[in-house]
Amino acid sequence: MAANVIAKRSKLHGRGLFAARDLDAGVRLIEYKGTRYPKGELPDLGDDGVTRFLRLSDGTGIDGTGWAALANHGCEPNCELAEEEGSDPPRAYLYTLRAVKKGEELVWDYRLEVASRADAYADWTCACGARGCRGTMADPAQF
Ligand SMILES: [Zn+2]
Repeated sequence: MAANVIAKRSKLHGRGLFAARDLDAGVRLIEYKGTRYPKGELPDLGDDGVTRFLRLSDGTGIDGTGWAALANHGCEPNCELAEEEGSDPPRAYLYTLRAVKKGEELVWDYRLEVASRADAYADWTCACGARGCRGTMADPAQF
């Protein structure tokens, strides 16, 4: 699986995830792995933690420590993170949304849950460079 992706320095943030070869749309790349937290017992998240922490549909969460957690946010993503249907506990994977060229950085839309609109634009600014960049990694639908 990991043969589809490589990790290296990103101009967006820290290390990112990149296509190791040309990829078709809808390819399952890698699982989002890390420390699992039960419902209602979310860890104390530091600044970096918020972008690593994945909330799952059953209320549990994963503090990402694997390769998938390296994937950066993008407002016009070429990937999505989706749960596998029927898995219990839920398992989430990074999938390509469209065909991706070898060497392209793989990004997905984090849609972070944050406390307020002000926080979204002060603390979770996005400068992904996409034409449609909305200026924050937070989910605009929550305000
Ligand atoms: Zn952006």
